Amino acid sequence: MRIILLGPPGAGKGTQAQLISKRFDIPHISTGDILREAIKNKKPVGLKAKTYMEKGELVPDEVMNKIVTLRLKESDCDTGFILDGYPRTKTQALKLDDALSQIRQKIEFVFYFETSTDVIIERLSGRRICKNCHAVYHIKNMPSRQAGVCDKCGGELYQRPDDKKETIKNRLEIYGRQTEPLINYYQKLNKLTKVNGDLAAEKLFEVLLKIFAGRRNE
Ligand code: AMP
Repeated sequence: MRIILLGPPGAGKGTQAQLISKRFDIPHISTGDILREAIKNKKPVGLKAKTYMEKGELVPDEVMNKIVTLRLKESDCDTGFILDGYPRTKTQALKLDDALSQIRQKIEFVFYFETSTDVIIERLSGRRICKNCHAVYHIKNMPSRQAGVCDKCGGELYQRPDDKKETIKNRLEIYGRQTEPLINYYQKLNKLTKVNGDLAAEKLFEVLLKIFAGRRNE
């Protein structure tokens, strides 16, 4: 299965991607995680991306396209993948189509997580991430068993600097301007499925599983 998760920051794309990845054993490709890992490891691409990310702005298309094109060529993507946070602009979407057609693959599902602003702000401000394995928690909705410690790997949980209130506003504005037009793009290609991003994670996952099962029975 080749899947794109589309939606504003805080729509729950990362959480659903983790669940889908585990259930179907396909890689979760989060461009945000790739960039944060590059920053942590002081890689040149990380240094380049850092200033954009801190302000909640988008990292240039050429940088992102290169990262994703290379990642999709890795063998674990042969049977499918979940793209979380990419594409984010029309240029990226076109590049992705091009890269996939070169390896004779195509996207099967584009899920658009329709999410209300109140829910987004509540989720982002309570979100905590594992520094080590990137697992996602929420201080109220999905707390770790021990505060500040990842259930999966024992890593330290932290709040992303761009999840602070000042940056959230900018990220939402940029999402509206640059990423929202992709909804139309995938709708025209007849690939888009809208789902309710306000649902609790386990409920939304059930919805997604039903859609996958329905498609297999078609
Ligand atoms: P995310 O973890 O998906 O919320 O991404 C965090 C930040 O990484 C974004 O606010 C951008 O600065 C950068 N980023 C991640 N993916 C992309 C992308 N596809 N295009 C441009 N910037 C990106």
